[in-house]
Amino acid sequence: MKQSEINALIAEYPLVAQLMALQPVSWFNPRSTTLAAGLPFVGLGAEDVAQASRRLARFAPYISRAFPQTRADGGIIESPLTAISAMQQALNVHYGLTLPGRLLLKQDSHLPISGSIKARGGIYEVLTHAEMLAVGAGLLKPDDDYARLFSDDFRHFFSQYRIAVGSTGNLGLSIGIISAKLGFGVSVHMSADARAWKKQKLREHGVEVIEYAQDYGVAVEQGRKQAADDPHCFFIDDENSQTLFLGYAVAGERLKQQFIQQGITVDEQHPLFVYLPCGVGGGPGGVAFGLKLAFGDHVHCFFAEPTHSPCMLLGIYTGLHDGIAVQDLGIDNVTAADGLAVGRASGFVGRAMERLLDGCYTLSDSEMYRLLGLLDRQQQIRLEPSALAGMPGPWRVAAEHPWLAQRGLDAARMSQATHLVWATGGGMVPDSEMASYLAQAAEQLG
Ligand SMILES: *Cc1c(COP(=O)(O)O)cnc(C)c1O
Repeated sequence: MKQSEINALIAEYPLVAQLMALQPVSWFNPRSTTLAAGLPFVGLGAEDVAQASRRLARFAPYISRAFPQTRADGGIIESPLTAISAMQQALNVHYGLTLPGRLLLKQDSHLPISGSIKARGGIYEVLTHAEMLAVGAGLLKPDDDYARLFSDDFRHFFSQYRIAVGSTGNLGLSIGIISAKLGFGVSVHMSADARAWKKQKLREHGVEVIEYAQDYGVAVEQGRKQAADDPHCFFIDDENSQTLFLGYAVAGERLKQQFIQQGITVDEQHPLFVYLPCGVGGGPGGVAFGLKLAFGDHVHCFFAEPTHSPCMLLGIYTGLHDGIAVQDLGIDNVTAADGLAVGRASGFVGRAMERLLDGCYTLSDSEMYRLLGLLDRQQQIRLEPSALAGMPGPWRVAAEHPWLAQRGLDAARMSQATHLVWATGGGMVPDSEMASYLAQAAEQLG
C-alpha cells in the first residue's frame, strides 16, 4: 500500500495507527446487532448446524472404534469445561481490576485425537467428504452403522482419493490424522512457522508433509494448486469452507448441554461472554455462530489476535475484509502463537460475522507467555501460547464502561455473568517444548 493510501485509511480508521505501532488494541463493534437482524447475512442457519451435529452422531461409532481414547464419550469428540477461580484471582491482581462474575475455561486444548480446536472443523470436513464418496459409490447408507468404515475394504476404497490442506500446524494435524486413519492419501502444506514436532507427528502417521519458507497464505495457495491438478484430490479450504465452519458451530449446542449439566444459567440477567483466539477465522467464527444460535442475544463473542497478526480486526473494522492484509501496512505477521499467524482474514467469515461479533482485541506475545505461566501455576493447566489469547478479554470488557452501559449490561447483570475463555490448543505439545514455553513464561513474569 502507498503511504498516501495508508494515511487516508488512518484518517478514517484511527485504530489502524495503533495496530501498525503493534500496540494492544480493544475494539468494540459498533455494527453488532441482534441475532435476528444479523442471521440473514451468514447464509447458514440452525438446520445446517443440526445437520452437522447429526452427521457427527452417525460417525460416532466409527470414531469410537478408530480412536479408543473417545470410547468413554461414545465417539463424540468433546472437551471439558472447567472453572478457573484461582486464575481469576491471580488476574484480578495482574490487571489491577476485580472481575465481577465467574471465569471458565473451555479446554479444546484437550480435545481428543489432535489436541486443538481443529479437532472440530477439520475432522468434520474430512468425515463429510468421506461420507459423500462412500454413499456416492453405493458402499454406505446414512442409516448404516458407520463402525463398518473401520475396515480394510473401506481403507482400500478411500486410498484411491487424496486430501490436501494448507496449514500453520494444527489444522494439518487434525486433517492428517483423520484422513490417514480413514485410508486417504493426504498432503499437508505447512507454513514456515509450523513446529517441527507437528510435522514429525504427521509423518509418523504416513502423511506427506510439504514445507514452505513462507507464511500460511503461500502454503494454502500451493495446496490449492496441487489439488486443482488432480481430480481425485480434495482441497480443504480453510479460508472459505462452510463445511469447516459448520463443524465448529456444533460446539454451541454442546456447550449449552454442558452448562445445563453444571447448573450454569445463561439469560438476560446472566449474560455469557466468550473469548476466542482468531487466525483465519473459521474456528472462532463457526463457534461464535453456533453460540449465537444456542444462546441468542445473551451471548457476547470477542475474537483475540496477536499484535503482529491482527487480520480479522483489521478486516472487519475497516470493512475491507480479505481485501487487506496486515503486511500491506508493514505489520510482519510474526508471532509465537501457532494458528494465529495469519495475515489475511477469511472474507467469508468476516462478512458472515461482522454483525454478530461484539468486538476484537489484540495482545502481545509476551502477554500470552505471562498468561501461560500464570495458568500453569494457578491451575496446573498447560496450553500453547495462542490458546491464552482469550484470557485478557474479560478484563478488557469489564473496563469498557460506556460500552457496557450502552448494552444494558449493568452491575447487577455483570455480577452474574459467565466469562468463558476458549482454550484452543496445547494438549499434544511434547514435554520438552512445553518446558521451553514455561521457561519463557517464567522469564516474562520475572
Ligand atoms: C487454528 C487455531 C486457532 C484459530 O482458528 P482459525 O480458524 O484459524 O481462526 C486458534 N488457536 C489455535 C491453537 C489454532 O490452532
